[in-house]
Amino acid sequence: MKENKITLKETFKLNYKGFKIINKYCPGMFLSDFLHAAVSSVVPYVGIYLSALIINELAGGRNQEKLTSLIVITLITTLVLAILQGILSRWSNSKKNTYYYSFLKIFSDKMFSMDYEDLDSQKMQDLKSQIMQNNQWNAWGLSRIYHTFEQLIKSLFGILSAVILTVSLFTSSVPESAGAFTLLNNPLFILLIIGIILLTTFLAPAFSNKADSYWVKLSEYMKMGNRFFGHFGFFAFESDRALDIRIYEQNKLAFDYIKTEGVYTKDSMGVVFARGPQGIFHALSGAVSKLSLFFIYLFVCLKAWAGAFGVGSVTQYVGAVTSLSGNISMLVQFIGSMKNNVPFMRTVFEYLDKENNMYKGSLTTEKRSDRKYNVEFRNVSFKYPGSEVYALKNVSVKFEVGKRLAVVGMNGSGKTTFIKLLCRLYDPEEGEILLNGIDIKKYNYDDYMKVFSVVFQDYKLLARPIAENVAASLNYDSERVIDSLNKAGFTERLKDMPKGIDTFLYKNWDKDGVEVSGGEAQKIAIARALYKDSPFIILDEPTAALDPIAEAEIYSKFNDIAGDKTAIYISHRLSSCKFCDEILVFDKGKVIEKGSHEGLLENKNGKYFELWNAQAQYYV
Ligand code: ADP
Repeated sequence: MKENKITLKETFKLNYKGFKIINKYCPGMFLSDFLHAAVSSVVPYVGIYLSALIINELAGGRNQEKLTSLIVITLITTLVLAILQGILSRWSNSKKNTYYYSFLKIFSDKMFSMDYEDLDSQKMQDLKSQIMQNNQWNAWGLSRIYHTFEQLIKSLFGILSAVILTVSLFTSSVPESAGAFTLLNNPLFILLIIGIILLTTFLAPAFSNKADSYWVKLSEYMKMGNRFFGHFGFFAFESDRALDIRIYEQNKLAFDYIKTEGVYTKDSMGVVFARGPQGIFHALSGAVSKLSLFFIYLFVCLKAWAGAFGVGSVTQYVGAVTSLSGNISMLVQFIGSMKNNVPFMRTVFEYLDKENNMYKGSLTTEKRSDRKYNVEFRNVSFKYPGSEVYALKNVSVKFEVGKRLAVVGMNGSGKTTFIKLLCRLYDPEEGEILLNGIDIKKYNYDDYMKVFSVVFQDYKLLARPIAENVAASLNYDSERVIDSLNKAGFTERLKDMPKGIDTFLYKNWDKDGVEVSGGEAQKIAIARALYKDSPFIILDEPTAALDPIAEAEIYSKFNDIAGDKTAIYISHRLSSCKFCDEILVFDKGKVIEKGSHEGLLENKNGKYFELWNAQAQYYV
């Protein structure tokens, strides 16, 4: 949390900016809330005013006709206002029910559109989890605006109505016949009463905001604590840990961690504050606001006693002045709350305002029917953001169209990085990558993405029908889906499926959904890559969970499936790729050898030869 001083200007600016974003995602929510709060805050004053008129008439003239019409007016007004309030409440509630969805959408949209480089960065991930934790913790950040907007409107309308009803308290004078009581007509009393009201109205929320400021003090501590609790508190919910938990009694360990970290225990900072200063400030805030009530009653009752106004007006004035004070308090509290919200809003906008720096060109990748796309890496070097080490160094490679290219090397040698750069998830730091002789940055990004199908190591399938998985769309060509699945070797399994390609994967959404094994899932992922029908198809070790022999089988079978596409195979297992036309050997981010399997084996001092012999035992 930044320690910068919080000014009123920044308070207004950031919260208003947040207001505008919420209003954009949740149109009508603030409007309905505004109207509902406005009507709700005026209703009690209308009641106070009308009942004062009735009581005054009862205590005074007792004119039956006047009384009847007052009662009818009161009934009709109350009825109309109640109906209006009900309608507005319904409208505002239905709008508010969509808030959480909109809140998530604000962040999802940002995440979908963010440069992958940023999405993947530790800093942005930390920011996002802070924002979500602050939101969950005490609705700090955007949600605070949503929660307190009603408070703002109610307090503003409340102040306005109360002032209107209070004016005559000071203007109606005690008659001369009341003797010493005429002292109450002295304008000094106006100042005195206003003074008391203001003092208590400002003191009460000031104490309350002071109490709340302890939340802000706690934020750094709670950030860690919440993360800790979020992990260990929900340990039992993670079913994939169940085996470890039982074998190693990790349940005890989880409780011990929570105890030692002391986040929600009786000695935690939050509880110490609540028992101490935070609690005291809350109590003071409550006490002070009751004090003003005493003086208001005293003044109003004395004036009524002396004959300045009727008995009915006592309720009107006491009610109006009390709520004037209450509403000013509410307004001050609102401003304080917005001020306390500033550090959280800074975090929100640090995330939402992150600009995309990746240059995105406008050239289209020509849709060549001959699929003659060639790609060249020219002296490409790359370091991951925040890292000092080159993940790739001076890589120069040219792919020949329609060939099979293998990228092999030990884990961590830069193979996946090479593919990530090719797919423009990151831009090279030095050098350039060319598609048909043109720097890939100059192409329209979405268009460029169409050139590649990749089956990543950690591909994910959706718990939706197989066809939608393969086509990555709700609209698909069933024949092509089945053809892709057949090519990927899924034919037999598909025959077993009750609803064919409409069968749901997993049971999340359909009780008849099917579980698939790792190998089957991978075939679906491969079918998805085939369905996309891009000129380049890349397999980035999606087979890592399989044994070397099974992987080699899949890779060489894939060779037939790939047809006229340019295929790139990545593996740390050399045997999987020996059929390829060209093999690039990566080591510490560099291409240290290239050639065919036989050619590379001839160099007895080469890395390929060394790796091949080291791995040979697995293939025999
Ligand atoms: P391979 O695919 O050959 O196993 P990678 O391309 O994944 O290797 O990784 C190359 C190097 O880059 C490794 O040293 C790895 O630790 C590092 N690296 C990979 N991804 C990231 C990342 N997101 N941030 C920082 N370093 C990374």
